[in-house]
Amino acid sequence: MNYSRYSIITLLFLLFGLAANARKDNVTMTLVENGRPQGRIIVTTHEAADRQAAALLQDFIQRISGARMEIRHETTSRKGDIVIGNGAPNNTVPTVDLSEDGFRLTNGDGRLHIVSGGDKGAIYGAITLLERFLGIRYWGDHEYSLTPAKTVALPAINIAENPAFRYRQSQHYAMATDSLYTLWMRLESPGDVFAGGYWVHTFDRLLPSAVYGEAHPEYYSYFNGQRHPGKASQWCLSNPDVLEIVTAKLDSIFKAHPQQHILSVSQNDGNYTNCQCEHCKALDEHEGAPSGSLIHFLNKLADRFPDKEISTLAYLYTMRPPKHVKPRPNVNIMLCSIDCDREVSLTENASGREFVRAIEGWSRVSDNIFVWDYGINFDNYLTPFPNFHILADNIRLFKQNNVTMHFSQIASVRGGDFAEMRTWIVSKLMWNPQYDTDSLMTVFLNGYYGDGAPYIYRYIKMLEGALMGSGQRLWIYDSPVSHKQGMLKPALMRRYADLFDHAEAAVAGDSIHLARIRRTRLPLLYSELDIARTETTMDTTAISRKLALFEQRATLFDVPMLNERYNTPIEYATLYRTRYMPRTERNIAAGATVRFLTPPTGRYATPGNTALTDGLYGGATFGESWIGWEGIDGAFILDLGEPQSFSEIRTDFLHQLGAWILLPKCIRYSISDDGDTFHEIGAVDQPEDRESKVKFVELSSRNPQPLTARYIKVEITGTKTCPHWHYGVGHPCWFFIDEIVVQ
Ligand SMILES: [Zn+2]
Repeated sequence: MNYSRYSIITLLFLLFGLAANARKDNVTMTLVENGRPQGRIIVTTHEAADRQAAALLQDFIQRISGARMEIRHETTSRKGDIVIGNGAPNNTVPTVDLSEDGFRLTNGDGRLHIVSGGDKGAIYGAITLLERFLGIRYWGDHEYSLTPAKTVALPAINIAENPAFRYRQSQHYAMATDSLYTLWMRLESPGDVFAGGYWVHTFDRLLPSAVYGEAHPEYYSYFNGQRHPGKASQWCLSNPDVLEIVTAKLDSIFKAHPQQHILSVSQNDGNYTNCQCEHCKALDEHEGAPSGSLIHFLNKLADRFPDKEISTLAYLYTMRPPKHVKPRPNVNIMLCSIDCDREVSLTENASGREFVRAIEGWSRVSDNIFVWDYGINFDNYLTPFPNFHILADNIRLFKQNNVTMHFSQIASVRGGDFAEMRTWIVSKLMWNPQYDTDSLMTVFLNGYYGDGAPYIYRYIKMLEGALMGSGQRLWIYDSPVSHKQGMLKPALMRRYADLFDHAEAAVAGDSIHLARIRRTRLPLLYSELDIARTETTMDTTAISRKLALFEQRATLFDVPMLNERYNTPIEYATLYRTRYMPRTERNIAAGATVRFLTPPTGRYATPGNTALTDGLYGGATFGESWIGWEGIDGAFILDLGEPQSFSEIRTDFLHQLGAWILLPKCIRYSISDDGDTFHEIGAVDQPEDRESKVKFVELSSRNPQPLTARYIKVEITGTKTCPHWHYGVGHPCWFFIDEIVVQ
């Protein structure tokens, strides 16, 4: 039975039926009576999934009732038994309409049958029985709820379900620590499915530039006048030798992993680094998109492996489909929505509509599409990310456009914004996009937060309305500061705090619910701190107190990191104290006028003449307080107003590789009395830094004897072009400065 044949009301009944035990007048079979098992669990096959389903049922029925149902491996059964698997010779329960991971539950003949459409179908059938008919809810890391009962009975059951997507992937911290969690959420991992772990950005693993680059630069992409072998540049897809080498490599991988039928042959993580040699360029121009040469190449590869699937990325420069060539049925198109904004559904804003055009284009030529979607702030896991209202719309859009595999990337680290509820809702919607998000949310909130639930629901709704009312976009690399005049403005922050105060008060006597509410509140505390550092006035006593609270709670709740670069909460608090709290040191350059000799780039071109001397230090997000130069050197003159005595000059730089912001190569300081004739007093060379962590780096010049001057010239030699190891290889990179200190 296809999910779409249920009406939403039926689905809600099925999902929330929640009969921990069927009402007496509705009992069809009794599994446990007064603590005594009434039947057995019969496993009719030797399938691992069927055995695991049996063990799960035995375990959880015992957790409810204390009674342990016996598991037997045989094909005969009697009334009162749970019969798992498709192996009974007289099995009359239909399975033809079930797809991989699908199942049917029925107990019309007095036995409860669980039959499977393959793979984990029996396990998901068992979990559905436990969740929907025996009232067990699995929320998070070893977190579940059930109502103990001496008698466990079932009503008449006859349901069949198939997943909306054959492959469902998401993220949650419990997936690493609680093996049951992944099963309950019905999620899979790339390692289960993709041969040899080849699942994205595989070009450099399959044809390593370190091995072939020097002898055969012609295997790699040509642009800006040269070949670029490297981890972030791409292949020359029209080179016939590349096809032969990669074919041989794939052959060996598939032979080594006979159980897995799909692997990814996909571009390295770099943008605009595709080959523009004469042949590749001609093909791409004919096809109207850089995906042209890629699909031509993959079709040739796919023809050599007709019983396997080759997956590839449609990502960044390959997002749009080619005009003419159609991917072979065994070419899987992995389409990524990374550039889209999230305040409204994908059909409702410009960035989303561009993605919709791409998915509609691909769905016209392929029914084998994988969507990689994004649903959290990756730069600030602990910042409110109100996107629950768009989840169902977007997942339904994917389903309508021939998407068969789906990865909803939501990070979901411990302490991250609604980490537990986000995965719970996303997993349910990936199984069945017709579920109603608001109803799912209500079930989760009530189960997870107890009496605090109504306040948290109001918080979510207020935040969602404030976001849309603000007219601001919701981007996966925002910072709380991006929304300080919108959904996180002071008047709203006060009301959010009030709702959380009420929620905490409502569960004051209940340590489990209270801890969950406080953990869920952390993103507001973090946002408050992060916004405060960008204000010119700061209540230092209040902020110090909140910082200490943040540190204490983040430690208590074991929050491992704040962003995808692994910066920890403790690092943040330490940095905050040294960098953002008002400084006691005197800066001679405070408020000094800056004259740019080489103006900053683009929107940074007219930063105001005190932006580098206003005492405000930027954060990891380059949007505020920073000034940047792209692909060029920079220079400016600082006018101290009158001759001043000093011995040290420090300039603060941002290192953020993900945003193509690299440290400069060198900085030179010179001084002058008249602003015309300068003489150099110091120069610093900065070694290359490949570390992915965001850093703030001071490049300073110190003189043993104090110097006196009115003007200081700062000349910066930028790295200018992203090096071969960087995602942006061959393209301009930035350097950013926020502040200059003279002492
Ligand atoms: Zn080429």
